Amino acid sequence: MTKNASGVKSKIWLSAPHMSGFEEHFINQAFKTNWIAPLGPNVDGFENDLETYLEHQSHVTALSSGTAAIHLALKLLNVSVGDEVLCQTKTFIASVNPVIYVGATPVFIDSETQTWNMCPELLEKAILDRISKGKKPKAIIAINLYGMPYNVTHIHAITKKYQIPVIEDSAEALGSRYKAQPCGTFGDFSILSFNGNKIITTSGGGALVSRNSELKNRAIFLATQAKDSGINYNHSEVGFNYRMSNILAGIGRGQMQVLENRIQIRRAHHEYYKNALSHITEIEFLNEPENYHSNRWLTAVLFKTKAIRDGVLNALLNENIESRPSWKPMHQQPVFENYPSYLNGVSDNLFERGLCLPSGSSLTHVELDRVNQVIKNYFG
Ligand SMILES: *Cc1c(COP(=O)(O)O)cnc(C)c1O
Repeated sequence: MTKNASGVKSKIWLSAPHMSGFEEHFINQAFKTNWIAPLGPNVDGFENDLETYLEHQSHVTALSSGTAAIHLALKLLNVSVGDEVLCQTKTFIASVNPVIYVGATPVFIDSETQTWNMCPELLEKAILDRISKGKKPKAIIAINLYGMPYNVTHIHAITKKYQIPVIEDSAEALGSRYKAQPCGTFGDFSILSFNGNKIITTSGGGALVSRNSELKNRAIFLATQAKDSGINYNHSEVGFNYRMSNILAGIGRGQMQVLENRIQIRRAHHEYYKNALSHITEIEFLNEPENYHSNRWLTAVLFKTKAIRDGVLNALLNENIESRPSWKPMHQQPVFENYPSYLNGVSDNLFERGLCLPSGSSLTHVELDRVNQVIKNYFG
């Protein structure tokens, strides 16, 4: 076991950035050609790589973050002050903050146990209830949590029935598939994140996926301060400074070369944990239902009780191993406590009992063994 000079065991991170070595080439090119701007050949190249990967009429706009991408999606759907947006409560707060930025009201929807994502029955119930209260929701934000796709068939049948657009938050699910089609291609808009902890990273960054080139052009316009054409700095509306830098897009191009490999490794880590730990009856894994293919961004497990979950978390921490409770639902967040929610107890339960295990693609077998051993020892 690796220890540093003072005898402390080396840190094992939850999901550390994993460079391929191809990134520097693109970054050096940017320096050599002086493309040090939020546009340039790497931005175009990275967008092309993503469009090729996603297919299905995907027009990708590279942005400064996934949060910015959700903000732009809401703007492009004309969501504004007083509107309501239905959002999966079981998510990271970045999914919801942009709803507040545009002055709209988030309405939280609980999860189903099969995918941990938005429960279709509750979604329909919420839509009907909001309509009966005089307000049809303006958009729906559905999440592919930890890389597991939401129930696309069922959710989209409902949103189609009521004619409500979907923003697909695929920040955690680049490389996942539902019925063989890539996540990031299902929403009216989809978003990706390349934050440092995601399956591939640009250190910080995101992308908006639109279904046609006009919407992409409109996204670029809004992301570059909404400057009208011509050289006179004329602005007829308020925009944002949300484009991705050409340097960071260079990292993205290098990362795209190894995306398939990164997915395979994370999936293998998941299998490894499952094989090593599934004999422990206090641990439960989230299995892939038929037609679902998860990138297994993070391996999240459930323990029988909150006390056991906390015990395992602390046992790992004592060995300098990072693990995290599963995302705290948005309806439990102090900042969102006054918003409406449609609940069934699933997300509360997942939060109490869920733990994300180290899952990064740079983890070694020795490190995975260390994690497994701590958990096994905990259960004696
Ligand atoms: C990471 C993440 C985001 C936001 O992405 P950033 O690039 O960090 O702004 C949005 N939604 C979910 C579910 C995420 O995990």
